[in-house]
Amino acid sequence: MLDITPMPATDVAAADLAHHLHPFADMKELVDGGVRVMTRGEGCYVYDSDGKRYLDAFAGLWCVNVGYGRREIADAVFAQMNALPYYNTYFATTTTATARLAEKICSYAGPAINRVFFTNSGSEANDTWLRMARVYWATLGKSEKSVVIARQNAYHGSTVAGASLGGMKHMHEQGNLPIPGIVHIGQPYWYGEGGDLAPAEFGLARARELEDKILELGPERVAAFVAEPIQGVGGVIVPPETYWPEIQRICRKYDILLAVDEVITGFGRLGSWFGYQHYGLEPDFCAIAKGLSSGYLPIAGVMVSDRVADVLVNQAGPFHHGFTYSGHPVAAAAALANLRILEEERLVERVRDDIGPYFAQAWRGLSDHVMVGEAVSVGLLGAVQLVLDKATRRRFSRPGDIGMVIRNFCIMRGVIVRASADRILVSPPFTISRSEVDDIVSTLRDVMDFVSAELSSD
Ligand SMILES: *Cc1c(COP(=O)(O)O)cnc(C)c1O
Repeated sequence: MLDITPMPATDVAAADLAHHLHPFADMKELVDGGVRVMTRGEGCYVYDSDGKRYLDAFAGLWCVNVGYGRREIADAVFAQMNALPYYNTYFATTTTATARLAEKICSYAGPAINRVFFTNSGSEANDTWLRMARVYWATLGKSEKSVVIARQNAYHGSTVAGASLGGMKHMHEQGNLPIPGIVHIGQPYWYGEGGDLAPAEFGLARARELEDKILELGPERVAAFVAEPIQGVGGVIVPPETYWPEIQRICRKYDILLAVDEVITGFGRLGSWFGYQHYGLEPDFCAIAKGLSSGYLPIAGVMVSDRVADVLVNQAGPFHHGFTYSGHPVAAAAALANLRILEEERLVERVRDDIGPYFAQAWRGLSDHVMVGEAVSVGLLGAVQLVLDKATRRRFSRPGDIGMVIRNFCIMRGVIVRASADRILVSPPFTISRSEVDDIVSTLRDVMDFVSAELSSD
């Protein structure tokens, strides 16, 4: 067997810091602070090179939904590697795993979605539907219908189009983004931006920004609106209940395509196969990635509604777009094995009926803490809003710092969570047990007790 762990951990870290440029990193800070070397995973736990064990309440990066150490996926990958490690899907060819996976994905999608285009990443999935949307309208003789409306603080990936669709200011500042033809409206973040409005009113107000923007541009120029059902990286922003129905109404009224970015919410995270089912939406495009393979191998794609696919298939002619590894058979085999686990262990139902409700109750329990403005969740996606003063919703002046402090203490105590500014985010594997949920919640509570005591003693 190929041995990839003969080096002492300190040598691995040194090699890494000397030669590996990390994503989303300040490399200077990393070189000064060091990196953690992860060596193995089992169930909901990962282990570093010192043998320290962490409860991974973030499922890797919102993706290891079936947990670590799944032999079935490794076996499926091994078998496909031996049978056919690669073939392309370009020149009138396909592979069994690719075709079966496309069919399987569509079986969860509902009656209006029956096609999928494969990519390697969520970013590429967003690039892909952006081009499809413009081709769709151009084919129908409306090539001026090309602007995409997206949202501030959204995350749609790191390619030029993905980062442009996203609404992260710090990303736009690097590399002259967004590209032309992409505009942004406000996010439905009631806690941070709702002011004196009740959540329901605020949800409607934020949805109507879409209508205002469409009217400002002219409906004949707007191709699509894109959003995550629940903004993930932006802070697990759960929209008020009034928001999504109003968005759907507006898209229909002005004949705007609806693209949902379900890279996080797809494949069960909210307790339904897709977030659009949870919110009762009828999207034209649905970007999928992370949970499709539980991160075991990179694979992603765009699910396309019949309305759009019929035009792309029957009228548009060739689509000049694709990736060498679109529908990669080994990645597809990993995804199929992952989906089989979700089905056989009824993990989506478990999120909806069992561990999701248990998690919701435990998580909401944090809302009595002095540092917590709100503790929200849907399915197994949760966030805690850190505040300086609950009564007035006053926030910390340096939100990124307080988030990092809480996050780092949690990790020191063996529970991996993520911070997005002053929100603490969790997204555990669907296999998490009740006692593991209790561990996450009690660790976060202990850390907040400790930090709030330190703050009030200053
Ligand atoms: C992670 C993520 C992406 C980007 O996916 P990559 O595979 O990292 O390119 C896009 N959209 C959302 C909502 C994501 O969470």
